[in-house]
Amino acid sequence: MAVPISQMWTVASYVLRKRWSGQKRYPLVLMLEPLFRCNLACAGCGKIQYPGHILKKNLSPEECFHAIDECGAPMVSIPGGEPLMHPQIVEIVEGLVARKKYIYLCTNALLLKEKIGEFKPSKYLTFSVHLDGQREHHDFSVCREGGYDLAVEGIREAVKRGFRVTTNTTLFDGADANSVRAFFDEVMAMGVEGMVLSPGYSYEKAPDQNRFLGRARTRRLFRAILSNRKPNWKFNMSPLFLEFLMGKRQYRCTPWGAPAYNIFGWQKPCYLLQDGYAATFAELMETTRWEEYGTESGNPKCANCMVSCGYEPSAVNDTFGSLRGFASTIRSTLFDRHEDHGARDLLNEPYSGDVPPSPLVQIVNDSRKEFEETQV
Ligand code: SF4
Ligand code: SF4
Repeated sequence: MAVPISQMWTVASYVLRKRWSGQKRYPLVLMLEPLFRCNLACAGCGKIQYPGHILKKNLSPEECFHAIDECGAPMVSIPGGEPLMHPQIVEIVEGLVARKKYIYLCTNALLLKEKIGEFKPSKYLTFSVHLDGQREHHDFSVCREGGYDLAVEGIREAVKRGFRVTTNTTLFDGADANSVRAFFDEVMAMGVEGMVLSPGYSYEKAPDQNRFLGRARTRRLFRAILSNRKPNWKFNMSPLFLEFLMGKRQYRCTPWGAPAYNIFGWQKPCYLLQDGYAATFAELMETTRWEEYGTESGNPKCANCMVSCGYEPSAVNDTFGSLRGFASTIRSTLFDRHEDHGARDLLNEPYSGDVPPSPLVQIVNDSRKEFEETQV
């Protein structure tokens, strides 16, 4: 089990308190984006395409603290941009630790070795390092030769200094399932606490529009990757969310479960879409037309989404919402290696999608490729 007991207890007791008080919509993790600039320019990124004057802006520590105090979520994910480029990131992290929030600082780790000495290890702080696969795959995904080696150096240094470290992997169409499984072995050998996975979201602004997965191909890929698991693989994620990715469960999106706050305010409705902003968390909750989002809504922007910020809160609520959900989580975590002979066959099958089975990221912009497999 990759998530420490103290963190699980904090989240479980928070969810139960909310449910017992009759609150239907509550956040589990604040997606705090303190800046949008980055020292990489990944082909699948939908966050760094702002004009220069926006990229120069930072949230102040006080704005970050106000956001977490407003929403009250027990966990904070700090993506970006690259948070280690924020001049006051240490102060922000220390303020969140003082509030006993479990923080996932998402970094591409290019600066991790240089900056790590400024942070103190804490059970509340995890460095979540962006690694999109084995060396060749990662370097292509982030469009930077040597990116993998720098990230691994950062991981090793952070592990050596006693920090909690996870990896954070986004998978795109054409991903080689066998290579991803070999990557899991490599990552666990680095001594990380666990791995986090997600299918890429089809950001309209991302330069490479050809590699986003439709729902059916997402399920097929994750079934191939996550069935017949090795005992040493650990995932820092809800086990039921992993089953959702494998096509074993159905969930509706819970966009309010991971609200996003950045220099524009509270983003409607989620971390991935920008349908306006609210000035306060209360305004976000009250004025967002939640029924217009999620795959079942028919909103084309949600059609192929299976991303964790919408669906992992659904899985967490399932775990703590019923004895059945809790028992399924225990079974999935402790006793189920997800044996699946059909999935073994998938590993040997040639790729049958639209994109050649190469790790190369083709930077082309073909707006004709629309969302396929919407109803699958
Ligand atoms: S490292 Fe993250 S924020 Fe930076 S370009 Fe890549 S995906 Fe975007
Ligand atoms: S389905 Fe995805 S894009 Fe749509 S609201 Fe949910 S998380 Fe956001």
